[in-house]
Amino acid sequence: MSALRSPSVRRMSGSSKGVSKMGSSEGLAAVLDSMRQFIDEEVIPAETVLREATLDALVEMERLKSEAKCRGLWALGHPRHIGGGGLGFMDVTLLNEVIGRSFFGQSAVGTWSMQDSIMLDKYANAEQRERWLLPLVAGEIRSSVGMTEPEVAGSDPTMMQATAVLDGDEWIVNAHKWFTTGASIAAFTTVFARTEPEEAGRYKRFSAIIVPTDTPGYEVVRTIPTMGSTLGAHCEIRLTDVRVPKDHLLGERGQGFVMAQDRLGPGRIFHCMRWLGQMERAFELMCARVNERSVHSGLLSQNGQIRLLMAESAADIFSHRAATLAAAEAIDRGSDARLEISLIKFRGAQLLHNVIDRAIQVHGALGVTADTPLEWMYREARYARIYDGPDEVHRDRVARALAKDPSTAPWTHIPA
Ligand SMILES: Cc1cc2nc3c(=O)[nH]c(=O)nc-3n(C[C@H](O)[C@H](O)[C@H](O)COP(=O)(O)OP(=O)(O)OC[C@H]3O[C@@H](n4cnc5c(N)ncnc54)[C@H](O)[C@@H]3O)c2cc1C
Repeated sequence: MSALRSPSVRRMSGSSKGVSKMGSSEGLAAVLDSMRQFIDEEVIPAETVLREATLDALVEMERLKSEAKCRGLWALGHPRHIGGGGLGFMDVTLLNEVIGRSFFGQSAVGTWSMQDSIMLDKYANAEQRERWLLPLVAGEIRSSVGMTEPEVAGSDPTMMQATAVLDGDEWIVNAHKWFTTGASIAAFTTVFARTEPEEAGRYKRFSAIIVPTDTPGYEVVRTIPTMGSTLGAHCEIRLTDVRVPKDHLLGERGQGFVMAQDRLGPGRIFHCMRWLGQMERAFELMCARVNERSVHSGLLSQNGQIRLLMAESAADIFSHRAATLAAAEAIDRGSDARLEISLIKFRGAQLLHNVIDRAIQVHGALGVTADTPLEWMYREARYARIYDGPDEVHRDRVARALAKDPSTAPWTHIPA
C-alpha cells in the first residue's frame, strides 16, 4: 500500500500494524509532525552555532542528538535489528523531505550515514557489524567512503588507481583519494581499491576494505576548501602501505562496484527528498521577503517579475516532488528504477539550484550574506549537480536507454 495514499507508519519488516518507534500507534502524519517540530524548533535555530564548527558546535550537536533520541526520532529509517526505527521505505522517503529542511537535520536525527549503514548491514561480517555498524547507527562514530581520486575521473570508477594487495593475513592498501567526506571526523573509511587482476574484467577488479582512520600510514592531507568553506569536511587522504587484517574486506573480493551501486541507488531518492526540504525552505523565505520588502510602487509581492520567480519556483517544487515520489513508488514496487532515479537526480539538482537562486535574488544583497541561510544552501545545491554522478552521466544514461527502447520510459509503466 502506498504511503502517499495511506499515511500509516510501516516497519521495514514484520507486521504492518503501524507501530512506530515512538511507542504508540500514531501514524506517519504524527511522525512527520514531530520531526517537523524538532527540525524547525530545535535544529534550525541552532544552525548559527553549528555552522561555526567550534567546540560549541560539537556540544550543540550532541545535545540535538540526545534530544532526537528522547523524542523517538533517532535513526527511524534504519532496520530495527541494527538499532533503528524500522520504518518502511516510503515512510523514510517522506521523512527525508522534513529532515532536509536543515543541512544539519541528518546528523541530528542519526541518518547522516544511512547509506553506509545499509551497505554494512548487507555485506559486513559479524565482527564488522559489532565494531562498526552498531556504533554507527547509535551515533557514536562516523563513517566515510573513499572512491574518488584526484588523478582520474570519478565518473568512471573503473579508472581508480588505489590498490590493496594481500600479504599473508593482511591487506596492504595504497591510495590517494579526495572528497572523502567526513574522513577527518570518521572512525573508518571504506576504501575502494583494485584487488583483482585485469582478467577479472572491468567491473570485478575492485573491492571495498574497511580502514580505521587511526591506522599507521593513513593521513588526512587536508580538508579541502570548497566554495569558501571547509565545513563539509571534504577531505583529501593518502594511504601509504597501510596494513589492515584480511577480515577487513567488506563482502567478497571483486564486489566493490556492486556494493557502491547498492549504496547509491535508493540513497539518491532520499537526497532528492532532502533537496525538496531545502527548496521548500527557500520558497518560504522568498514568500516572507516579498511580503515585507517594498520597492518603488509597493511590496515585492505585487511586482509581476517577482511573481514570475515565485510561480516558477512553486512549479519546480511541485514537479520535483511528484517525480521523486513516483520514482520512490517504483522502487517500492520492486523496480531498480534506474531511469527514474537518473531523471530526478539531474533535473532535481538543477531545480534545487534554481529555486535557491531565485530566493537569493528577491533578497537582494541580503541573500548573499550569511544573515540568511540562503548562501549556505546555494553552495550545497551547487555540489548536488556533481556528487552521486554529475548531470551529464545521468542524462547520458537516460538518453541512451530511451534511444534504444523508448518503451522503457518510466511514464509508460506507471500504474493508473
Ligand atoms: C560535495 C561533494 C561530496 C562528495 N563526497 C564524496 C565521498 O564522500 N566519497 C567519494 O568517494 N567521492 C565523493 N565526491 C566525489 C564525487 O563522487 C565525484 O566528484 C563525482 O563522481 C565526479 O567525479 P570527478 O569529480 O572526478 O569528475 P570527472 O569524472 O572528472 O568529471 C568532470 C566533468 O566531466 C563531465 N562528464 C563526466 N562524465 C561524463 C559523461 N559520461 N558524459 C559527458 N560528460 C561527462 C561532467 O561535466 C563532469 O562534471 C563528492 C563530491 C562532492 C562535490
